[in-house]
Formats: sequence, structure tokens, C-alpha cells
Amino acid sequence: SSKSDNSFFGQPAGLQTLFFTEMWERMSYYGMRALLVLFMTAALQEGGLEITVASATAIYGLYTGAVYFMGLPGGWMADRLIGGQKATWYGGIIIMCGHIVLAIPSNDTFFIGLILVVLGTGLLKPNISAMVGQLYDNDDDRRDGGYTLYYMGINLGSIIGYLVCGWLQADAGWHYAFGAAAVGMGIGLVQYRLTLPKLKSVSAEPAKPLSPAGAKKAWAVIIALLALLVVVTGLTMNGTLVIDPVAIAEKVAILFTAIFFIYYLAIFLFGKLTKPEAKRLIALFLVCIASSCFWAGFEQAGSSFNLFARDLTDRMVGDFEIPTAWFQMLNSLFLVTLSPFFAALWINLGKRMLNPSYGFKSALGLVIMSSGFIVMFMASQIAASGMKVAPTWLVAVYFIHTVGELCLSPVALSAVSKLAPKRMAGQMMGVFVLTYSIGNVVAGLMAGGMDPDEPSAMADLYLQITYFGVGVGLVVFLFALKTRKWEKLADASDAS
Ligand code: GLN
Repeated sequence: SSKSDNSFFGQPAGLQTLFFTEMWERMSYYGMRALLVLFMTAALQEGGLEITVASATAIYGLYTGAVYFMGLPGGWMADRLIGGQKATWYGGIIIMCGHIVLAIPSNDTFFIGLILVVLGTGLLKPNISAMVGQLYDNDDDRRDGGYTLYYMGINLGSIIGYLVCGWLQADAGWHYAFGAAAVGMGIGLVQYRLTLPKLKSVSAEPAKPLSPAGAKKAWAVIIALLALLVVVTGLTMNGTLVIDPVAIAEKVAILFTAIFFIYYLAIFLFGKLTKPEAKRLIALFLVCIASSCFWAGFEQAGSSFNLFARDLTDRMVGDFEIPTAWFQMLNSLFLVTLSPFFAALWINLGKRMLNPSYGFKSALGLVIMSSGFIVMFMASQIAASGMKVAPTWLVAVYFIHTVGELCLSPVALSAVSKLAPKRMAGQMMGVFVLTYSIGNVVAGLMAGGMDPDEPSAMADLYLQITYFGVGVGLVVFLFALKTRKWEKLADASDAS
């Protein structure tokens, strides 16, 4: 059994492969993302695109939303066409190509680079996360701890990305920083290839392949959609098609949410689920609701918290001014530091049969994260009186948000891998990653209502987010009392 394989910090050897691949992929993603809005709004003489702040933040929201939205087709492709291993490999190559295109110092090719990163991440992100779960037997209680470790890799990668790309941007320029993201993804790919044998048979083949005729049709549709994308991109680039990013962002938020519900419903209608499978998927639905709300609040980090740090926080320490962007790294730093404690906590509770349900933990994460906004409510009120606030306020909120993240995010990944039928492991991870997408787009829209010139309006909105998040969290908690038992249902057809 796989339980005897514990060569990577007590976890299966395959986790090493996935840990480092995802670490480098996230290095490239967050390293570039940290600079994205700055690059788009920078003046042409500074090498930027000189786009307005409103458009740049809308493009940022659309980009981060699209990256995670594409996890849905990406997960489906792994299950039905190519398997998780190949999806991760080709996804990584496409991401690397995207960053190479961004490294070209020409503004014309910028959006092509972004589109490639979107497509590649859609293939890689859900499938690499699903493969982590496939390293464990159904009854292996190392699963939560394994995901916590994997999540630590995600955040180690982000820290490296922020440091390397931030430093290169300041010292050498935008396109060197984007080039570094390509190099990072490249290291990840080499590492993946070299350590692939450790994954053994995990997702080497699609879990539920289409018939040859069906596969042919699917590829034809995929190629047609890609061709359409090329045409639309071309028309936009030569100015025939004019796109208003702000107007689109609002519609996309609704569209993504609708697709989430429709896809979930379709699985119930057409997924040929057994009774236990259906009940487990309802338990997972609850986790997805908590996750969407969680990210809508949490992702204020890159938007309104960022502006709060820049305009309303006293960043002078003696003669030194703390750079605004450093505050963003606090989340990853806290996460890496706190992860081992949480991993140990889940393992110890598990040994005593006291490990809380997935529904409970995600409700708890949402409530903790939302409560963190009380800190921002108070800080904004101080700022409204005309004073700049101490950096400790942001440090405190990032700490609370990270504790919430550790209760919800790695746990939810684990929940998806445990509760979804194996034959749809990739696409259910895609559905879950869609909750990131919804959260990111909604977060951007909410941040649009927050102007650091009006801190008292910010205070009001932060208080509303607190009420809303805590309210949803309590409702999820109540339902979790019911789904707790459903999470444990086994399914004969699904035993590994
Ligand atoms: N930091 C996590 C990741 O990169 C979660 C991202 C998100 O926006 N949900 O996987």
C-alpha cells in the first residue's frame, strides 16, 4: 500500500515532484502578477503601457479570473483526453512560453503573453492539485497534512517570485522580471521531468477516456475555439474590435458564477452518480460556497489593502520607507511559518478521531478571515481622522487572514480530492478552482468601490464584508452539521 511510502517528510515520494513543480509555477505566476498593475499603469517613458488605473485593475481582475476559470476545461481535458501528467507538462510549457513572450520588450505582444499564461495555468493548476490527492488511499489520514505541505510549496514559490521579480524589475526593468518568471517555470519543468518516475502511475492515463470518435470531436472543438481566440485577439490588436475591460469584468463575474452553478447541476443530472457520490458532492458544494466567499474577501490583498498600504499607512521606520509591495509578502511568510503547526494539528486531531469535518473547517476559515476585516474597519476609521496608521494594522489583518486561509484553503483541496468521484477528479478540481476565479473577480469589483481618498467609506465597506462573511460562515457551519456524515460515505465502485 502507498502508506509504506513516506520518503518526503513522511509523505509519499510523488509529493516531492508535485511540490517543487507547483512551487516554481507559482513563483512565475506571483512574480509576474505582483508587477502586472504597476507595469500597465507605468508611463510609456518608464517602459509601461500607460493604461488608466480603472482599466488596468479591470484587466488584472479579468486576467486572474480567467487563469482560474480555464481550470474547468483544463480539468476536463485531463479526465477525458490526456491525463493529469501530460496536462501538467504541456500546461507548464505553455505558461513558460507566455512568460517568454512577456519578456519581449514590445507592447504589442503583451496580451498574447497573458493569454498563453491563462491557457497553460488552466491545464496545469487543477490537475497538479488533483494528482496530490491521488497519492493517497481512501483511508490514508495523511491526506490533509500532505495538502498542507503542498500548499506550503505554493507559498514558498510566491515568496521567491516576489523577491526575484521585484528585485529584477527595480534593477534591470520589467521585461527582465518577466523573463525570470519564464526561467522559474523552466526550472519547474526540468524538475518535473527528472522526478516524474516518483509519480509512478498517478494520472498517466485519462481517468475516463472518451471513445476514439468522441475524442476526435473534442479535439476538433478545442482547435476551433483556439482559432476563434486567435481571430478575436488579432482583431483586438489591430483595433477592429474595441474592448472595454471594466464593463466586461462586471459581466464576467456573473457569468462565472452562473457557470459554476450550471456545471454543478449538470454533474448531478448527467454524471450518473451513485447515491453516496451525490451526497459527497453536496458536502463538497458547501465547501465551494465557503471558498468563493472566502476569496472574495481575501483577495482584497492585491487591491484595496495594497492601496491602503500605499496611501494610508505610515511606512517610515526611522529613515527607511517600507516599500508598499512588501506587505503582500506577509501572507506567504505567515503561511510558510504557520503551516507546520497546522499540519501537526490535523494529524494529532486525526489520531484522536477529532479531526473536524471539511465543512466545519471551511466555515471556520471563512469566519476567521471575515473577522479580520474588523481590524481594517478600525484602521480605516483612524485613517479617516486624517492620521496615517501604523503598519501593525496591516500586519495583524494579514496574520488573521492567513490563519483563516490555513483552515480553509489546503483543507478544501484535500476535500475535493477525497469527495469527488475518481473519474472526475480533474474536472471537480477545475470546478473548485472556479471558486478562486469567482472570488478574484468579485474582490476586484468590491475594491472598485474603495477609494483611499475616502477612508470612512472604506471603513463602512469593510464592516459590511465582516457581517456578510461571518453570516455566510455561520450558515455553512449549520449545513456542515448535516454534511459531516456524508463526507465519510464510502462508495464500492470508487474504492482504490
Ligand atoms: N495562493 C493559492 C494558490 O496560488 C490560492 C490562490 C487563490 O487566489 N485562491 O494556489
